[in-house]
Amino acid sequence: MKEIILVKLGEIVLKGLNRKNFEDTLIRSLKRRLAKIGSFHVRAAQSTIYVEPVYDDADMDEAADCVAHIFGIAAFARACSAEKDLEQIKQAACEYLKETMEDAKTFKVESKRSDKKFPYKSPEISAEVGSCLLEAFPHLTVNVHEPDVVVTVEVRDFGAYIRAGLVRGAGGIPIGTGGKAAVLISGGIDSPVASYMMAKRGLELIAVHFASPPYTSVRAEEKVAELLHRVARYTGRIRMFTVPFTEIQEQIRENCHEEYFTIIMRRFMMQISERIARDNGCQALITGESLGQVASQTIGSIACTDAVCTMPVFRPLIGMDKEEIIEISRKIDTFEVSIQPYEDCCTVFTPKHPRTRPVEATVAEEQQKTDCERLIDEAVQNVKLTVIQ
Ligand code: ATP
Ligand code: MG
Repeated sequence: MKEIILVKLGEIVLKGLNRKNFEDTLIRSLKRRLAKIGSFHVRAAQSTIYVEPVYDDADMDEAADCVAHIFGIAAFARACSAEKDLEQIKQAACEYLKETMEDAKTFKVESKRSDKKFPYKSPEISAEVGSCLLEAFPHLTVNVHEPDVVVTVEVRDFGAYIRAGLVRGAGGIPIGTGGKAAVLISGGIDSPVASYMMAKRGLELIAVHFASPPYTSVRAEEKVAELLHRVARYTGRIRMFTVPFTEIQEQIRENCHEEYFTIIMRRFMMQISERIARDNGCQALITGESLGQVASQTIGSIACTDAVCTMPVFRPLIGMDKEEIIEISRKIDTFEVSIQPYEDCCTVFTPKHPRTRPVEATVAEEQQKTDCERLIDEAVQNVKLTVIQ
């Protein structure tokens, strides 16, 4: 008996003429990500993608976990494949679903026959498989309205598949179909969630992190790498660019008025990130900002940081409460890492009374008191690249 994974496409079935492109991208990411686990055939037919292990000893738990984290998938199920022969289908159903049926009290069988050459019609297949299951598991009863388990038999062109219910997939659209963007990642709760949300909308990500040693520690950088490692379960490999930020922060402290420290620092971050983004084929920046959360996230401050960018800046958390953000961070398993107490460069030299309504012209003038152009050039030249898997 061979086990496979059936993948049902998400929103991508809605994409009309683009559908082929979306489907091909999804298949490519499935292949790439599954290759780390073992050898699998991945092929699409009749709006389903089939993931079949090449060898019997494939780790199907790990493969299912991998599939569960890939965007563009609405639902999936582990299923067993059988010859297109009614007796074999019945036998496979009883064997493969043994544990599921033992745990259930009620069930129903649904059949789909897309191979019209198969000699039994769908209702006949359901009736035959149903009575076979009743015989093998006498404690069961049939309930067509609210069954504990729905057994599905699909008779398709190249085989028959038997499965219990579908599991919800990661949703979204396949990564890469939306272009590429650079996320500004800190060690906090918000930016990993922002990364996940934009990747879910089909963006391939690179990450930019600003570090200010010795004010920020190696441990703080390791924490960011660990967060990205967790995001990478959804996105696959992420290239992380660590930017040396110490000199910039020191120059701001020495030359600029204290109430503008944070806003000027954020403008540098955007300018440097945009350069790195452009050099790496990105078309947008992403941040984890949420309106009103801190002084640098008021409308006025955001206007001041956007003024130095020409790329669109995506802020998927802008209208979310902290509680809502935390809920997602728990779901994607980044929360526990995010709350580890390491310093971020944003918390170095924070002004006691930051401006919440900065005037852009004044901020620009203040920023000019630093060695702006040279600092940005040097920061970009000295980035350190780490590939996060
Ligand atoms: P987070 O939880 O993501 O750290 P936060 O609420 O602490 O967010 P800020 O520290 O003001 O907010 O940062 C706002 C956004 O700026 C972050 O979501 C992130 O996108 C970016 N950012 C902050 N610090 C860094 C950093 N050291 N490197 C790169 N980006 C950063
Ligand atoms: Mg932060």
